[in-house]
Amino acid sequence: MLLKRIMIACLFICIFTLLSACSTDEPSESTDEVTSEPTSETAEETESLPTEAIFPEVELQKKDVGKHVKLLQYALNQIGYDLKVNGTYDEATTWAITDFQLQHEELMDIGVYNEETRAILKQYLNENNQIDPGLGLPYNTETTSTQSGSKIIGNPYDQLSLINKDFALPADYIPEDLVVPDVRFPFTEDLPKKQMREVAARALEDLFEAADEEGLELFAQSGYRSFERQEAIFTSNVNLHGEEAANTFSARPGESEHQTGLTMDVTSPDIGFKLIVEFGETDEGKWIAEHAADFGFIIRYPKGKEEITQYQYEPWHLRYVGEKAAKEITEKGITLEEYLL
Ligand SMILES: [Zn+2]
Repeated sequence: MLLKRIMIACLFICIFTLLSACSTDEPSESTDEVTSEPTSETAEETESLPTEAIFPEVELQKKDVGKHVKLLQYALNQIGYDLKVNGTYDEATTWAITDFQLQHEELMDIGVYNEETRAILKQYLNENNQIDPGLGLPYNTETTSTQSGSKIIGNPYDQLSLINKDFALPADYIPEDLVVPDVRFPFTEDLPKKQMREVAARALEDLFEAADEEGLELFAQSGYRSFERQEAIFTSNVNLHGEEAANTFSARPGESEHQTGLTMDVTSPDIGFKLIVEFGETDEGKWIAEHAADFGFIIRYPKGKEEITQYQYEPWHLRYVGEKAAKEITEKGITLEEYLL
């Protein structure tokens, strides 16, 4: 009897020891998510964070790290969000800013902490207002997939969203701020493909103006494309070339960047306004390669990176990512995949 009790007691001690060992192990396993261990993080946090929340006076965006991001996360939590104060402008921080922007009509919904967003966030703090997190963009932690197995992204508004053969846009995503940029098109019909999201449209106008000043003749050929339109295009390409071949140059519905409204295919009269590799050799194509980043655009499918982008070289396909990311991507000669992943 006594022996039995001793054995039971031993068993309990063993389980208790195991459990406590597990819980101390846990934080170091999740270093991927949080940039440093919770213990040192907490110490640093109380040290570097002011007693009163403040919104930092700099522009911040996805991938940024450091004290300013930490201040931003801390201040966002004061108005109702529940972010990890880890100093990394991660997916959750991008979501919170996008969600806030979607709840304020006057703000562009792009996930970037910019001056306009800061001004309204500050009002919340000053007036002790609270936000209703997720009212603009529900925070989706579950990942759903398309029929072909690519993940459907939770924040299609993000200016730095990654859309490719692994990550797709929700089928019902239609940008709310589509406009027709004031640039040249080789056709006169008022087609939906003339449109872009406002942030990208304004940047494209600046790019065209600068090219004009160099005496170049850029034309915009194809911008926004709805999920349904992409579905029709892909189906027709599959019928002509077979699915595998079609997918090397044509995207499955949901996987086309054109659905983001952040993309424009450009061309020139020298090549008959076509979207062909020779565009890269025209004066316009060369100028684009050199100057697109100054206006926040990248050549999304560069030569020699076909294995990463999983698309053929497309010197005509411009994607807006904002100046900061565009400059880094172009200077380093990398792709959006390499920049973000
Ligand atoms: Zn394109």
